[in-house]
Amino acid sequence: MTITEALQAARALGVARLDAQWLLEHLLARPRTWLLAHDDCELTPAQAAQIRSLLARRAAGQPLAYLVGEREFRGLALQVSPAVLVPRPETELLVEWALECLPAKAEADVVDLGCGSGAIALAVQRERPLARVTASDASAEALAVARANALRHGLAVLFVQGDWWAPLRGRRFALALCNPPYVAGDDPHLAALAHEPRGALTPEGDGLAALRCVVQGAPAHLLPGACLLLEHGHDQAAAVQQMLLGAGFATPETRHDLAGLARCTGARWPGAK
Ligand code: GLN
Repeated sequence: MTITEALQAARALGVARLDAQWLLEHLLARPRTWLLAHDDCELTPAQAAQIRSLLARRAAGQPLAYLVGEREFRGLALQVSPAVLVPRPETELLVEWALECLPAKAEADVVDLGCGSGAIALAVQRERPLARVTASDASAEALAVARANALRHGLAVLFVQGDWWAPLRGRRFALALCNPPYVAGDDPHLAALAHEPRGALTPEGDGLAALRCVVQGAPAHLLPGACLLLEHGHDQAAAVQQMLLGAGFATPETRHDLAGLARCTGARWPGAK
């Protein structure tokens, strides 16, 4: 099988050409320009078998990131597996907002709840080396991926296992970040996301349960003047603002992603509780 034949096989399976090229780049450890210049290069039998299997898995809807085992997030190449959600570009909005809240030279305690691959925690730690970042996740498999990513990038994030605030008893933070599962349990989009961990996408029901849990637990874990920043679904901003006001937060603000969708809501904690 040549590279051209592999691309033809992709086409027959309905796999996008760019996806097939990306798989070939990873499999052969060659850049796209090399693939284009060597399209008559014969794959070894093992490589041909591997690309056939990768193309079949892609055609069955598996995310590219799982097939190549990594995804880039804010310039960090992160290992991903089916134990974690694939980091989304829109989540960079939450990181940008977090960086605004953290002066570059300030030491501060920061927490990322439900860290998955570690994308948010690691991006913040890399860009704010003086911050002391802690990240929690209920899943041991997810934490193993996040720890591997921290090691790979030499970032000293502290990882703890448990639901939301549970493993952080007695600790208070200057900044709390969370991209919880927020898709409603009956959202038809879940079908297209079936290869990702369902528990990382949806808390079931109306999609608000995890956000509610994080907001309600926040006052006991925030320092006076701390910020709580949350990612949520495009139609959940009003509900999240109400939750924040109900828990005693001041003046919630909602920010929009590049697609113009309400994507993150945050607020400042006025005092200790
Ligand atoms: N934004 C993701 C999606 O719709 C959902 C991520 C999440 O639930 N935190 O694919």
